Amino acid sequence: ATPTAVMVATGVGANNGVLIKGGDALERAQKVKYVIFDKTGTLTQGKATVTTVKVFTGMDRGEFLKLVASAEASSEHPLAKAIVQYARHFHFFDDPSVTNDAPNNNKETTISGWLFDVSEFSALPGRGIQCFIDGKLILVGNRKLMTESGIEIPTHVENFVVELEESAKTGILVAYEGNLIGVLGVADPLKREAAIVIEGLCKMGVIPIMVTGDNWRTAQAVAKEVGIPDVRAEVMPAGKADVIRSFQKDGSTVAMVGDGINDSPALAAADIGMAIGAGTDIAIEAADYVLMRNNLEDVITAIDLSRKTFSRIR
Ligand code: ADP
Ligand code: MG
Repeated sequence: ATPTAVMVATGVGANNGVLIKGGDALERAQKVKYVIFDKTGTLTQGKATVTTVKVFTGMDRGEFLKLVASAEASSEHPLAKAIVQYARHFHFFDDPSVTNDAPNNNKETTISGWLFDVSEFSALPGRGIQCFIDGKLILVGNRKLMTESGIEIPTHVENFVVELEESAKTGILVAYEGNLIGVLGVADPLKREAAIVIEGLCKMGVIPIMVTGDNWRTAQAVAKEVGIPDVRAEVMPAGKADVIRSFQKDGSTVAMVGDGINDSPALAAADIGMAIGAGTDIAIEAADYVLMRNNLEDVITAIDLSRKTFSRIR
């Protein structure tokens, strides 16, 4: 390809919201064999919503939600935000079906004064959070968090979580004073174009893979829905780059598509890192491509552009 062809392709990309950082990145994309997709916020909309609240003790539902929301209020995680939003609506309106903030919403709903005070908050990446409320330890997160903290998961709770996971939801467990007191189910729907893009990539001879920190059962349910047979689940934030490297071992060219802070090492490790959507500054910095429109179709656009610019047939 001539420098002019590269310049033209870069311009065409930019017009479609596909920012390409240099001619080398443009050239590498034609050779891509594997595209590794992050699940949350990349294949899915990243708009988690609470669908299920189950309290296993005599505790009042509103009290349970207030407790969990207080614990999660300091977390930046999308799951935490979904829980706080749901609990806030339940607290102020007693009507959790109202999930969107109406334009003239009661201002009260945005203040945090309704929550309990927490102390010694800590986020445990890939697992959840923990803190103290009124001197009592509360843990909110996945099985790994409970197991590591010595919390026993009774069979009826395990069964309940399995049921959520089989319907592509993430089960979030809540332990208070050493006992498992409840579970929340959170759903994060696929992006509308996700399945068609996966099909398109397969037709182009590109192999899609999904990687996620979420649990196996939820990951597999989502992967099945979107049409990806190969899934790597329960991957700790630092482990995503290792997944990339394992696919590069035989010399294959690997692209990674991701959005979050957790994904930056993987974006950097990939031959072609693609940051999708608003992303985070750090993800955008680590990427070779920035897909500004937050539309997965642009993964195909990017590969196409490279193939057309560098194909020897031309
Ligand atoms: P992802 O690849 O989906 O972005 P993360 O590494 O951020 O995954 O999280 C993995 C898992 O850890 C989540 O699916 C959830 O079970 C648990 N987790 C992480 N942060 C939280 C939190 N603030 N509250 C509850 N659970 C959490
Ligand atoms: Mg993520």
